[in-house]
Amino acid sequence: MAFYDIIKQYKDFDFVDAFASITDADISRAIHSENLHGQDMLALLSPKAAEPVWMEEMAEESRRRTIQYFGRTIQLFAPIYISNFCSNRCAYCGFNTQNNISRRKLTLDEIEEEAKAISATGLQNILMLTGEAKTITPMEYLLDAVKILRRYFASVSIEIFPMDTDEYHAMARAGVDGLTLFQETYDEKIYKEVHLGGKKRDYHYRLDAPERGAMAGFRSVNIGALLGLGEMRSEFFFTALHAQYLADNYLDTEIAISLPRFNPAECGDFKPRYPVEDRTFVQFLLAFRLFLPRTGITVSTRENKTMRDNLMGIGATKLSAGVSTSVGGYSDGEKSTPQFDISDQRNVPEMVAAIKEHGYQPVHKDWDRGIWA
Ligand code: SF4
Repeated sequence: MAFYDIIKQYKDFDFVDAFASITDADISRAIHSENLHGQDMLALLSPKAAEPVWMEEMAEESRRRTIQYFGRTIQLFAPIYISNFCSNRCAYCGFNTQNNISRRKLTLDEIEEEAKAISATGLQNILMLTGEAKTITPMEYLLDAVKILRRYFASVSIEIFPMDTDEYHAMARAGVDGLTLFQETYDEKIYKEVHLGGKKRDYHYRLDAPERGAMAGFRSVNIGALLGLGEMRSEFFFTALHAQYLADNYLDTEIAISLPRFNPAECGDFKPRYPVEDRTFVQFLLAFRLFLPRTGITVSTRENKTMRDNLMGIGATKLSAGVSTSVGGYSDGEKSTPQFDISDQRNVPEMVAAIKEHGYQPVHKDWDRGIWA
């Protein structure tokens, strides 16, 4: 069964009715169960579970399970944008091909300069990003970029255009160990409305990409929905089911999720139809931790300092630090238009200090290629 078959099972499901019928007993049972099912996730995501008494209980249980499976650790990483050319027309993104922004693609020498600057901070996990423009950033260029990054970082992940399985195989052979790919929205109708042109309009090709990545042998696969595009509770419900599907079918792959939500700076005139407030955002993170307690949760610098600090103890396991979302943003050269303005500006030493202040251990490296390969 493909994940889309699971989505189809909810085709006529009335989420509004399901959420409205959740009782206190449903929520209590879900919080304290060890093996949660879809119905339990609905209970944890319901408006009723956002009541203070349930949020506190969820936070307490989430804290306990996070420590149980991850210890008091927070992994650190940084993104490196190597190109912002894009052939897609995502209505919500500043890199949209129709936007008149400063475009740039780094040369291999420039990638090396960026890598040196980032690795000098002590970071060992790098996430390589591009816009989605296969003709401008073809496979050979990406493989060369990976070779350079591998010289400086213990772990190299990619967040680029979705690929076929054999292309993912080639990336894995070159040394990529992690894939990040967001579905943006699981709602097929809204997906078509906000992806106005380019290959990204193909909902199914994107939906199956994380699974192709797992089949290709990436050590970790990170998924997510861009919160704000679709009805938020059902969107997050499908994100959780997608993570569960991948975790159940690819036992050797570490599955993780991110919770990207709209940062107004990135979308110009685009107004998210379903803005996610802070309280709901925290509820989702807690619900997910209880639903899949062994699954990593990444919180990016789209979120501000206070939010990220508060999430450290209750479910987040991976944070970015010292971030730039511009192409060439770390070294001294020319910088392009950033994809979005970051809300937490702290550099790596500041993030390390904040993590320690919260009683957690900052982790730069938690694996070795020699052991895995
Ligand atoms: S979200 Fe990605 S694919 Fe869409 S316009 Fe932005 S960079 Fe391109």
